[in-house]
Amino acid sequence: MSLRHFTVLLVTQLAMSAACMPGLAADAATLRERMVQDQIEARGVRDQRVLAAMRSVPRHRFVPQDQQADAYLDKPLPIGYGQTISQPYIVAVMTELARPAAGDRALEIGTGSGYQAAVLAQLVDRVYTIEIVEPLARQAARTLQSEKASNVVVRAGDGYGGWVEHAPFDIILVTAAPDHIPQPLLDQLKPGGRMVVPVGPTHAVQQLRLIGKDAAGHTHSRQVADVRFVPLQRK
Ligand code: SAH
Repeated sequence: MSLRHFTVLLVTQLAMSAACMPGLAADAATLRERMVQDQIEARGVRDQRVLAAMRSVPRHRFVPQDQQADAYLDKPLPIGYGQTISQPYIVAVMTELARPAAGDRALEIGTGSGYQAAVLAQLVDRVYTIEIVEPLARQAARTLQSEKASNVVVRAGDGYGGWVEHAPFDIILVTAAPDHIPQPLLDQLKPGGRMVVPVGPTHAVQQLRLIGKDAAGHTHSRQVADVRFVPLQRK
């Protein structure tokens, strides 16, 4: 496992993008507002902090140039290496389920484009994120740096084992699907912590599960939705 760390520069918040992007039919902020209203609020996401984060993170900056015109559509998009950036609604749902709070420390498995990490980074103190495809980890770190997400740390490697040095975590988001819940991730969840993970067979429908750990360290799990994620790979 590679242990390269990509630390992002010291600035506190993501820059808002109000710029008019070539290839986008309208102003990016306007497209994001429509995305939030039509795809996310309309389907029941109510947490105002989550909605504000979805309004402010420029999704088009997290996708390859040839996908930018589609960045605010209601679907996942290819980001190379057979991987995808999740549908905006799914990012919002997973973020809301995690109940992010300002002081929280979060772990994400499956950095991909860095978009989910950037959204979460607006709502918590620090995000640690692990990506198994090294060029994607590098690209995501570059994007996060240029978007001034200074509280995200990207690492290339297999996230199955979590990130022991920074554990325990208030929040763990798994954005690739394992066929079982990785025990190391359960172990690295704080009492009171929340984990959101799609569990199920490769290339089929999986169950999005919300797992909580109580003060006594017992976990409880509930199924939230049917989803389709790329598989969690192992190294
Ligand atoms: N959260 C991402 C999208 C996730 S796509 C975003 O916002 O863009 C799932 C990602 O998980 C892929 O990039 C894939 O390479 C990565 N992945 C798969 N198995 C992994 C593992 N064991 N550890 C870390 N990352 C993994």
